[in-house]
Amino acid sequence: MKPFTFSKPENLGKALSIKKDTVQFIAGGTNLLDLMKKNIAGPDAVLDITTALSSKIEQQGKGVRIGAMVRNSAITTDKTILSKYPLVAKAVLAGASPQIRNMASTAGNLLQRTRCPYFYDITTPCNKRKPGSGCSAINGENRMNAIVGYNEQCVAVHPSDLCVALAALDATVATTDKNKKQLSIPFKDFHKLPGDTPQLDNNLPANAIITSVDIAENPFSKNFYYLKLRDRDSYAFALVSVAAALHLQDNHIADARLASGGVAHKPWRWYEAEQYLKGKAPSASTFSAAADIVIKDVKPLSNNGFKKSMLRGAVETALQNCLTA
Ligand SMILES: Cc1cc2nc3c(=O)[nH]c(=O)nc-3n(C[C@H](O)[C@H](O)[C@H](O)COP(=O)(O)OP(=O)(O)OC[C@H]3O[C@@H](n4cnc5c(N)ncnc54)[C@H](O)[C@@H]3O)c2cc1C
Ligand code: SF4
Repeated sequence: MKPFTFSKPENLGKALSIKKDTVQFIAGGTNLLDLMKKNIAGPDAVLDITTALSSKIEQQGKGVRIGAMVRNSAITTDKTILSKYPLVAKAVLAGASPQIRNMASTAGNLLQRTRCPYFYDITTPCNKRKPGSGCSAINGENRMNAIVGYNEQCVAVHPSDLCVALAALDATVATTDKNKKQLSIPFKDFHKLPGDTPQLDNNLPANAIITSVDIAENPFSKNFYYLKLRDRDSYAFALVSVAAALHLQDNHIADARLASGGVAHKPWRWYEAEQYLKGKAPSASTFSAAADIVIKDVKPLSNNGFKKSMLRGAVETALQNCLTA
């Protein structure tokens, strides 16, 4: 492991004022430490921000503000989240293990790196780890990888469950940059597709800090579901996941949200299927047609063709389960 300096600034201002070539913040450390031990991350300075940032879940206007240091497990037991944003709690509970959720922070979950096996194997080419070296997965072992939104530079997927629910609910990410400028980034713009910079997973400015994740009031607390399909039922990343939420009025779908994990470089919203659902009566045939819309443009890789039918079934099942949630 490369040598680094370590400090624990007591507030945001001090955390942002430390000047080093490569600063890396550490929260729960559940991803960063693995990356440092494997020499995939090699910061000059590690700043422990666990006491510098909020670990509170607070009302924010009519919505909720989840502090960057709120542990994943705290999200799953908070009364406001459980009553008004239960989709978020259900998604978090589908992720990792109780021990990891106890350590993992909200911001760290957004910024965790992909689980593409080649990214973690420093003997293989990987454009995300070493830009310009090539993508080993595109013609290699890619059953866990993307089926939409990828290019020849990178076919990795974003591994988070929390982020799929936050994408579905149009959350925003509150950030402060090194000049102390605050910026609120809509969730749909926070993570990015590989483009020609596959080494970057998101649009967070360099050395900026996430201070909170904010969710506006919404009508999706009654009819929602998070379905995660994976190789084993616990402690495994999604092959495919679906966050579904319906706002039902007079036996019609007034509004719908559908997002997936395990399919793209970022949490993926199925906007066309959402549009299709709006105004329809909730029924098996409506959900089936929405699932067909979801899969019509997906393009599996050499080893993950099974994800197409898996995704179709997951969308249908998640929508059906919205009616009984
Ligand atoms: C075995 C295993 C299984 C897992 N399974 C799942 C799963 O099924 N689903 C799932 O969603 N996740 C899963 N995870 C991932 C886990 O949720 C993440 O590792 C965790 O959320 C990261 O949070 P952290 O606080 O530990 O981040 P850290 O490791 O401390 O940091 C991660 C990154 O975020 C940066 N960072 C942290 N906080 C801030 C901030 N406030 N501002 C700017 N940068 C910041 C760090 O610099 C670092 O780059 C799993 C992890 C492991 C080890
Ligand atoms: S898919 Fe992305 S992370 Fe995986 S080997 Fe290719 S470039 Fe690297």
